[in-house]
Amino acid sequence: MAMPVPGTYTYGVPEALASAVAAGVRVLVSFGRRRATGYVLGPVSPPEGKEIKPILDVLDDAPLFPASMIPLFRWTAEYYKHPLGAVIQTALPGGLTVAESPTWCITVAGRERLAEDGLTADEARVLTLLLRKPLRTLSVPAIPGAVLASLQRRGYIQRRQALRAGVAKALQERWVRLPSSQAPAEGPLSPKKQALLAAVAAAGELPVHALAARMPHASSHLRELARAGRLESFTRRLYRDPFGEAILPDTAPVLTVDQEAVVGTVCAALGTGFRTFLLKGVTGSGKTEVYLRVASHAMTSGRSVVVLVPEIALITQTERRFRARFGEHVAVLHSGLSAGERYDQWSRILRREVRIAVGVRSAVFAPFSDLGVIIVDEEHDASYKQEGGLHYSARDLAVVRAQQSGAVALLGSATPSLQSYYNVRSGKYTELTLPERIEARSLPEVRAVDLRQCRDLRGPGRFISAELNQAMAATLERGEQTLLFLNRRGYANFPVCAACGEALRCRQCNITLTLHQADNAYRCHYCGFRLPATAGCSACGSKQIKRLGMGTEKVEAAIRALFPAARVARMDRDTTRRRGEILRMLKGLREKTIDILIGTQMVTQGHDFPGITLVGIICADLSLSFPDFRAGERTFQLLSQVAGRAGRGDRPGLVILQTYNPGHFSIRAACAQDFGAFYES
Ligand code: ADP
Ligand code: ZN
Ligand code: ZN
Repeated sequence: MAMPVPGTYTYGVPEALASAVAAGVRVLVSFGRRRATGYVLGPVSPPEGKEIKPILDVLDDAPLFPASMIPLFRWTAEYYKHPLGAVIQTALPGGLTVAESPTWCITVAGRERLAEDGLTADEARVLTLLLRKPLRTLSVPAIPGAVLASLQRRGYIQRRQALRAGVAKALQERWVRLPSSQAPAEGPLSPKKQALLAAVAAAGELPVHALAARMPHASSHLRELARAGRLESFTRRLYRDPFGEAILPDTAPVLTVDQEAVVGTVCAALGTGFRTFLLKGVTGSGKTEVYLRVASHAMTSGRSVVVLVPEIALITQTERRFRARFGEHVAVLHSGLSAGERYDQWSRILRREVRIAVGVRSAVFAPFSDLGVIIVDEEHDASYKQEGGLHYSARDLAVVRAQQSGAVALLGSATPSLQSYYNVRSGKYTELTLPERIEARSLPEVRAVDLRQCRDLRGPGRFISAELNQAMAATLERGEQTLLFLNRRGYANFPVCAACGEALRCRQCNITLTLHQADNAYRCHYCGFRLPATAGCSACGSKQIKRLGMGTEKVEAAIRALFPAARVARMDRDTTRRRGEILRMLKGLREKTIDILIGTQMVTQGHDFPGITLVGIICADLSLSFPDFRAGERTFQLLSQVAGRAGRGDRPGLVILQTYNPGHFSIRAACAQDFGAFYES
């Protein structure tokens, strides 16, 4: 049932529908006194002593998912305590319902009823019309609504959701190349045409727009050349990155010794049954290249590949690189697509046109029936958890799916989740490591700065330490870029005890309080709890409470004041409400029109900017004070990810990490970039 009812129900299959019923199609059934849509899961022997109602109609021409996925749906429903039908609905692409256009059609019962007497004239007319062909809801001519409703209630007609296929069209581009056999020249060619031919001959093949940009009227010359058989024109599917630039095919590099070992181990396990690997490798150690090789190996041995990536504001590097390597063989499933596009991608997988799907958490349900490997990039990422509707962890489901399909699960991260690493220690998962950055690029040096030393300063010096200030000046001088990270927007006030470093928290929620100037009190944004602005530290009793105005907005103002000549941009939810804004900033970074980027968590993920050599973490402690048993783990992961943004190019990176809690184990481990020490603590 697509209705949120528990369990499954048994229906009979009428003779007339027998050929259309298959696992994975939707059917119309009567359910109590209503009619409902259900998913066919498969044949069962009828329960004893119960009347079995017949299926009224079949709604899909072909299954929406392969039967092999049903065990995964059942497992998910049971484990996460969610109705099975609702699990399936969550798994299916939204495009299924959005791209529907309702039509009226006659049911099997309606056909049989039409053969008998006793219908009113209107009823008979409607059924006869629909017998010929289904009609769009609005086009049933001049029939009183009550007649339609009555026929529908009795199960003779039904509103059917017909799928509109292919809402989105792929971008195509016209290219030219030399034909395999040249037509004999008919007379001399103009110099322009000769030049065009020479350009094409030199490049092998070229997009028409590239030639048109070089020479006026090129496209009409090219058409004439094609007509004369001197050139061949063809179209090519075009993939673009979010910058609007074409993603060009890449070639696989020679693997490093470490990569070779990892790829060898995983590929040897492909096709030999279920196995889970945890690939631990620092940022820039070449994990993505490992994923690409493993995917390629699975594909050539006839198996399919699912690649899960975290949900971020833009296309990830991983998706881009899979596109570059595998082009047409990749389906993408993420929220940046329209409903129609998502449906198209889903259909390409069902029709077996692609062997690889790259997507966010819901792609764990990509409808492959011959899964070879399921890869989870940045497996520790919080976005793999869905909270709302069906609560699930896509990382955990990936492992379950691999187990059910006898496939390999490959989880990768620089900072694995403690659960996954525990599974390594207890022997459930196999650990693989890439210990070094590619081309022996060094990891950035991380220097911790104790913010308590700045607590008596006034102005920006209170949160931009002298060390950070000097490092930024030096970076600007060298023409390199700085990333400043602070996980809080706005001008928000963060009250901290200057004596012991504790934050002022809500007594009920344990959330850090926020100062509200207007009512001269600290307030909890969750429950409304308030504390007078004169309150002291609840841990040590000190009255020295610092109100750290430490939102990104305030940092931006301070930086503009400290470095008036620098080009500064801020990336957080307030400045990127429009999609184009992120792009503009990323482009600015890449083209070096931005010297300093200030941002929240948003800047930590997925982007590779070789020009950034300095990362400043304004206050490493903010996420430590979240009321979450994973706060220490999240902080370690977040700080490690931010630090990993520095020195991705050929120049070494420096990270300055400012903190009020230099002794906290999460912060110490992040500074030392020591996952092992963190795990042990
Ligand atoms: P990670 O996913 O671990 O952060 P990547 O796979 O993105 O690392 O690799 C970092 C950089 O090194 C990328 O620019 C990638 O193209 C490059 N790279 C990866 N493997 C190789 C290799 N074997 N030879 C040369 N360059 C490589
Ligand atoms: Zn509260
Ligand atoms: Zn205190």
